[in-house]
Amino acid sequence: MDELEGVLKGEKIAYFSMEIGLTSEIPTYAGGLGTLAGDAVRSSADLKLPLVAVTLISKRNYFTQKLDENGRQTELQNQWHPEKFMVLLPNEVYVQIEGRTVKVKAWLYKYQSITGGVVPVIFLDTDVDGNTPEDREITFYLYGGDEKYRLKQEAILGFGGARMLDALGFHVRKYHMNEGHSSFLSLELLRKFDMDAAKVRELCVFTTHTPVEAGHDKFNYDLVAEVLQTVDLALLKKYGGEEILNMTRLALNLSNYVNGVAKRHQEVSSQMFAGYEIHSVTNGVHSFTWTGKSFRRIFDQYLPGWAIEPELLAKVDIIPECDIWQAHLEQKQDLLDYANLATDSDLSADVLTLGFARRATPYKRPTMLFSNLDRLRAINRKGKIQAIFAGKAHPRDSGGKTLIEQIYSYAKQLEGDVEVVYLEDYNMDIAAKMVGGVDVWLNTPLRPMEASGTSGMKAAHNGVINFSILDGWWAEGWIENMTGWAIGPHSSESDTDELTIKEAEDLYNKLEYVISPMFYERHDEWIKMMKNSIGKIAYYFNSHRMMRRYVIDAYL
Ligand SMILES: *Cc1c(COP(=O)(O)O)cnc(C)c1O
Repeated sequence: MDELEGVLKGEKIAYFSMEIGLTSEIPTYAGGLGTLAGDAVRSSADLKLPLVAVTLISKRNYFTQKLDENGRQTELQNQWHPEKFMVLLPNEVYVQIEGRTVKVKAWLYKYQSITGGVVPVIFLDTDVDGNTPEDREITFYLYGGDEKYRLKQEAILGFGGARMLDALGFHVRKYHMNEGHSSFLSLELLRKFDMDAAKVRELCVFTTHTPVEAGHDKFNYDLVAEVLQTVDLALLKKYGGEEILNMTRLALNLSNYVNGVAKRHQEVSSQMFAGYEIHSVTNGVHSFTWTGKSFRRIFDQYLPGWAIEPELLAKVDIIPECDIWQAHLEQKQDLLDYANLATDSDLSADVLTLGFARRATPYKRPTMLFSNLDRLRAINRKGKIQAIFAGKAHPRDSGGKTLIEQIYSYAKQLEGDVEVVYLEDYNMDIAAKMVGGVDVWLNTPLRPMEASGTSGMKAAHNGVINFSILDGWWAEGWIENMTGWAIGPHSSESDTDELTIKEAEDLYNKLEYVISPMFYERHDEWIKMMKNSIGKIAYYFNSHRMMRRYVIDAYL
């Protein structure tokens, strides 16, 4: 087949993910899981690793966010146009759903690296002639609909994806399940290899991303029996749980290599899933993608080759201070121009600027900065601060939506003192602008809910300094006053209401007595910390290192 020429050769790692963030124009991602998958694809192409990625086409995009003057979110669900970016392949596979034979087709996107490496990405699509209107919608809405809809999507991803790779002629060496959404593929492999569970385990790699039990996808067997009538329930119960189908258990029981996405997450997962050996491969981000224009320029000048060998960033000290500061000021001004225009505000490049952007959902605790407005005003009187926020709430996450409204309300109460703006429609482009242009990247998740987090790694690539709760990756990247600052206790206990109060207190104390004075009065120390962000964080927390770890620990 012409379209597949050059990408079928040799044995592949098949990387399955419900969402993949390739560009803002291909809106098939909702947050960190998707951007991580995108970074895995980008690094694999740069490194010429033999990867093929599989996901759903999510044709109605993960909504465009509109916010009214009170921060109330509405969602626009637009059609996007896959044919602009990829080609529809002629092959067809079938998945039985509610007794009907649902046809699945595939779009092929080729991610090309400047190194010459290519990673094919297969987007599964049920919006195909001959399917019922209901079945055509299965691949429309990422994380949309009810449980039954979700189960159908996971059936298309797991069963349909594995069958599609066979139909296209891929030779798969390992199947990598990025989160449990795709774990039906292990069941498909059991069928394919005559119930040889040892063989299937040999083939499967599973990465879990969810540090709390309630977060794991579960389906009751009545629903499973109704939707997946041809699946052997006894077999499914043997591997996926007797009482309820737990997609994580299914993947755990049929994978030889299982990992969490940071060392702390490995510890939490090992407690949650006693009896399984769980490794850790700490996440990373794609260095070139998440480094802004001005920093790319000075890295190219002083550290040529850094984009394909991010370890070179460890030599950041050879870059003169004035170049680091100049690059930062350019990117900061870019961001402020964008934010001022978008929100009709008056943010100034002279002011210490905090950034906070990620999915708007309660465990991320985006309002911690506002827990004591008088204290914040007092800190602002000693040294001015301003803050830029962004993030979408999932359409059914009412808690997340309320948080956005609260931030709007705090911003109003602080008017005339601390300038706070909220950027609409967070996506990969806005993420890149924000992590490239603020001074301090703030993260205040409820421990131990942040499995890894990746936006702080993106910030570090631009010399932005992290100020964060010690959870996820930050517990590894953090050295106090050297690579950034911790908020709250230096321990691995879970958060309580009492600890939350202490954390907010610590946030204010460090902002007032450490961060703001250093920013305004000790410029040399500030730039030293910016360099440490690059030389001690970005050089390690990148997806080139992550993918090489997967190759050696999981794929070989
Ligand atoms: C990096 C990124 C995320 C993940 O951010 P976290 O702080 O790790 O949750 C989410 N959304 C977008 C668009 C991103 O680029």
